Amino acid sequence: MRASSTSRYPSWDRTRDRSSPRLAARGAVVDASSVEHLHRSTWSIGFDADPGCRPIVDATRHILSTAGLTRLRSSEPDLLVVCSRGEAARSRFERPSLFGTPHLAVVIDEDRVRTGPFVRPGLTPCVGCHDLHRTAWEPAWPALLHQFGRSSVAVGPTALAAPTAHAAAVEIAVDILAVVDGQRPRTTGHCLLVGPQHDERMTWSVPFHPGCSCDLLAAA
Ligand SMILES: [Zn+2]
Repeated sequence: MRASSTSRYPSWDRTRDRSSPRLAARGAVVDASSVEHLHRSTWSIGFDADPGCRPIVDATRHILSTAGLTRLRSSEPDLLVVCSRGEAARSRFERPSLFGTPHLAVVIDEDRVRTGPFVRPGLTPCVGCHDLHRTAWEPAWPALLHQFGRSSVAVGPTALAAPTAHAAAVEIAVDILAVVDGQRPRTTGHCLLVGPQHDERMTWSVPFHPGCSCDLLAAA
């Protein structure tokens, strides 16, 4: 678990203290915003994304870059975003789960985007927990699992409106920044649905499922 470095230095708020820049120039104090960016720049984010996810991924990268993250195309990321058109093949979550890499599922579902659950392997409910809960109210879900990732839905035009795609990118970036800043992202144990309109949101909880063995990872 990474620790924030922002508390190690005295800081100043440039909007309130007009004398501090001279002190900062002598190294007496540190601009808190620059320290925050320094801390954020140490994080690497990876995107395992279908080609049809590019508008959301590009918008998310842009927001993260503006927020001070610089390593946004990592193949060995500190945090992996799995972005798919339709549900992703569950094999795409095996490696991050096995190696303990925090990961976030993002699914474009026609004209809306589902984000979550955000998973810290062994510590928070996983995609398997999500599937088991979903099976309870959608009995066909287990049969569908084997077809995820094989459909042609991953290519071609999307029904997702551009403002909704950007709204989803904001939500994704906010959760990634929460992780980077040592906070608990909202999609921990939850899913968030954006759309069809850009200002429409729906959220529901995804607790640990008793039939899933993911919480045993922490004890392994
Ligand atoms: Zn689980």
